[in-house]
Amino acid sequence: MAQVAVMSPDGSVKKIDRDSKESLQALRKLSALMLKAALKQEFKGIRLGEAVADEDGFHVDSDKDNQQVSADELPALEDIIKGLAKNDAKVEFVEVTLEDALAEVEADPYSSELIKESAKDGKVAMYQLGDVKAIADADILVYGDVVKNLRLLSVAGAYWKGMSSNPMLQRIYGTVFFKKDALEDDLKKRQEAKERDHRVIGNQLDLFFVDPKVGAGLPYWMPKGATIRRTIERYIIDREVADGYKHVYTPVLMNLDAYKTSGHWEHYRDDMFPPMDMGDGEMLELRPMNCPSHIQVFKHHIRSYRDLPLRIAELGMMHRYEKSGALSGLQRVREMTLNDGHTFVALDQIRSEFAKILKLIMSVYKDFDITDYSFRLSLRDPKNTKKYYANDEMWEKSQSMLKAAMDDLNLDYYEAEGEAAFYGPKLDIQTKTALGNDETMSTIQLDFMLPERFGLTYVGNDGQEHMPVMIHRGVVGTMERFIAYLTEIYKGAFPTWLAPEQVHIIPVNEDAHGEYADELAKKFKAANIRVVVDHRNEKMGYKIREAQTQKVPYTLVVGDEEKNNNGVSVRKYGEKEQNEMSQDSFMNEILADIASYSRE
Ligand code: ATP
Ligand code: ZN
Repeated sequence: MAQVAVMSPDGSVKKIDRDSKESLQALRKLSALMLKAALKQEFKGIRLGEAVADEDGFHVDSDKDNQQVSADELPALEDIIKGLAKNDAKVEFVEVTLEDALAEVEADPYSSELIKESAKDGKVAMYQLGDVKAIADADILVYGDVVKNLRLLSVAGAYWKGMSSNPMLQRIYGTVFFKKDALEDDLKKRQEAKERDHRVIGNQLDLFFVDPKVGAGLPYWMPKGATIRRTIERYIIDREVADGYKHVYTPVLMNLDAYKTSGHWEHYRDDMFPPMDMGDGEMLELRPMNCPSHIQVFKHHIRSYRDLPLRIAELGMMHRYEKSGALSGLQRVREMTLNDGHTFVALDQIRSEFAKILKLIMSVYKDFDITDYSFRLSLRDPKNTKKYYANDEMWEKSQSMLKAAMDDLNLDYYEAEGEAAFYGPKLDIQTKTALGNDETMSTIQLDFMLPERFGLTYVGNDGQEHMPVMIHRGVVGTMERFIAYLTEIYKGAFPTWLAPEQVHIIPVNEDAHGEYADELAKKFKAANIRVVVDHRNEKMGYKIREAQTQKVPYTLVVGDEEKNNNGVSVRKYGEKEQNEMSQDSFMNEILADIASYSRE
């Protein structure tokens, strides 16, 4: 088995199997160092930030006066790296005094800062390749001759240390493998990922935008994206109301005291926006969660066992102070709307309520054609029960009820002991994103703590006061992350019931057929079908192509024949042939299609 030499941050060298994960990481680290060397060679005076190897490849941050490195300069940099590889580049371990290390990078504030941070007892451990050095902070491959299958992928802005108050650097991303076919596979996967990227599709289809100049992580929903969202919101509210939920509206601002009582202020403060001092003693907080709001709804009346399970739901807008470096399209934002719900139950109702929520979630998934998901049941660590909310009876009873409910429904699940929240066990439903990453879409979380903290009670049939258990649950999660996910799994070709534009009508000749097209559109609109007539003065072929690019489910072309026969020529998205049919048959077909998301 082929072996490679790998150096550790302490300077020791060992041989490891070339086909291991560790050797790939070390290859990525070496590639990052070689990219640093290439940047230094190509651009005199360039300032260099971190050179990082991660699970996805490697990247190097840089900052160049006036003009930044651009994507078309990447091939030249790639050639330099390959040249270094041919010339038997070799990494040396050097220990430099802090003064010497700093003197070498005098004009580079980023390198200086990194060096200062990593210095120990006045010394800095570094890897050296020719005349470039990098902090020795991860294993690195020693011999550069294997760096052949490398590609520099892209350049993007990245704040120094991920903080938006810092300068923006240019981050160059790359990928590298020992073998050529591994690189080719990876590039293919990346291409596929790009085609599904909801940010790219969102832009092509004009669904939404996020502009850091008007607010990082604060999305603007354009009319088409808003139509998709509105359709989902109406759908989910209808499903929940049918399932016994009481939908409410509660404010996004709340007195900070509520978050002190809930414990969020103590444990979750880093993710919250700073409170607003109203100047009269009142402190207001933008809510990061809706739980305390729904608790107020519970508390507003005296509750009895007859009210339970009490199901409060809301499309609740919340704000979380996510780091600017973590923000990504609609997937991770700072203002989001959660399909949230809180059910208040008696202890012995947990099993049936849990099953009911689970059935709702699975039925909703079916309607969206989400099939690739799995269950993770998070329980408390039986060996360390002290870590958790102290009430053995509640834990024992509820955990066995959750398992029993899963078994009743014949569902396979992964038991994650020790993964429960402090306040109770939970079930996460994990989906796979188009890019193959795991994502928690829905959760059902039991909570013994908040009812106690807020002093919630109901009157039991024994006339005594009891404490309810609270179940937090999200069915489709936040509108933002859910729609990002759907955009990727559908590749932007939303099923007809969700498509912002369902029918696109193209008159063959505006003068002769424009009016007929409008008449048709009127009928569709009356049936609540979202339709646009393309009256533009463009060639027909162009209009048809554009309707396909916009992924409209049905494109209708109407000319003499259609007009005379009261018919339409229908082209379905993704299909080549065009079918002639009567207005009525088309109407039946599309209405059936819209209603076709199935119900159990
Ligand atoms: P994460 O680990 O992704 O930050 P979380 O565990 O904090 O999420 P919860 O508090 O359980 O998430 O949030 C409830 C829902 O909100 C989940 O469905 C999650 O997918 C979604 N969500 C959380 N943070 C964001 C965000 N910044 N942007 C969009 N959706 C989010
Ligand atoms: Zn909650």
